[in-house]
Amino acid sequence: MYFLKEDSIIFKAQIKVLILLITRGIRMSNLPEMFHEFSEARQKGFMEIKALKEQGKKVVGIYCTYTPIELIMASDAIPIGLCGTSEEVIPEAEKHLPRNLCPLIKSSYGHAITDTCPYFYFSDLLVGETTCDGKKKMYEYLGEIKPMHVMQLPQTMKDKNAFKVWRDEIVLLKEHLEKELEVEITEEKLKAAIKERNKERRVLKEFYELGKLCPPPITGTEMFQVLYGSEFKVDRQEKTAYIKNMIKEIQEKYEENKGKVSPKSPRILITGCPIGGVSEKILKTIEENGGTIVCFENCSGVKSTDRLVDETIHPIDALTEKYLNIPCSVMSPNKDRLELLSKLIDEYKIDGVIEVILQACHTYNVESYSIKKFVNEEKNKPYLYLETDYSQSDTGQLKTRIAAFLEMM
Ligand code: SF4
Ligand code: SF4
Repeated sequence: MYFLKEDSIIFKAQIKVLILLITRGIRMSNLPEMFHEFSEARQKGFMEIKALKEQGKKVVGIYCTYTPIELIMASDAIPIGLCGTSEEVIPEAEKHLPRNLCPLIKSSYGHAITDTCPYFYFSDLLVGETTCDGKKKMYEYLGEIKPMHVMQLPQTMKDKNAFKVWRDEIVLLKEHLEKELEVEITEEKLKAAIKERNKERRVLKEFYELGKLCPPPITGTEMFQVLYGSEFKVDRQEKTAYIKNMIKEIQEKYEENKGKVSPKSPRILITGCPIGGVSEKILKTIEENGGTIVCFENCSGVKSTDRLVDETIHPIDALTEKYLNIPCSVMSPNKDRLELLSKLIDEYKIDGVIEVILQACHTYNVESYSIKKFVNEEKNKPYLYLETDYSQSDTGQLKTRIAAFLEMM
């Protein structure tokens, strides 16, 4: 039975990869060679994971930027993101979940119950956090399919008890991983993982800061392919080296490629919800209508990477500090997001901010009022709010609104 099941998921996954590679090959055909490595990373990575599983490696599936993945790395397991980005499985998810729920949650759950995500299939354990209501309730159902550990995330980062609560949760995760994976996470291993991950963050930061150049040497689509795809590269050292070389190559060819992006086109910052499932329709439309995306503030972008883990203090304290201070809208209040946005708007010489909200994401949706006010009144920049889901039904409407916004700038 076991082998039959494995055969079936591999078969399904291979077919899916084939379809995705064919369609991506068409959609991404204008991406230069060096970016293909990342645009196909998610689809290719599962074969790598399968091979590693056969060698006895453990896999831990994660759903959020708040997961302290250094602990998973230090337990010698592979952390892998399981957030769904496709709409095909949503109808199945809607048999259990309400329709008016965030597409990211429905897609993640849909893949889990239809056995169509190889990464979910290979995961030995799942780790989630009590972030938004939809996700934390969905974890209860996921726990019926796979062993699920949920970290109790404080709802505020500034309260004096929050640090203690989150620190205790990090210790609990460490103990859980040690017990379930039958390993010992020593201080040395944790420090080494922090160092490794920081190295990765530094190189990603160096990469996305290329967007500060005017004109930028790469398009926003290319930048996003690397930021998003890098999460699915299992060999961390190889990934860091690859990105370093890529930065060097891009810098060396800057003068030669300068004409690729017009210096006159409005410089756009993307903020809001994770956009893995809507990147095609949003990013492409912005760039096809003359906008230049130079900065991603959301998950996969600056928000998760900007702040390093302090290598000089106790590793558990350092992880607590780093992850508690992620300025996501699930925190209340979330003033740090405004500070980060302010800094990015100045540093990247932003002409306009586009906020992408996934339908039924209440925290980002409510926060969008203060973001708009801040961007318009404090920073004197235009702001566009886009609410969307994983379907293609709003493509025309998005196109009209994005084109009008860019034309007005
Ligand atoms: S937006 Fe917030 S809750 Fe969602 S993945 Fe990112 S950090 Fe986690
Ligand atoms: S986008 Fe919003 S609703 Fe969806 S999982 Fe993230 S925080 Fe929750």
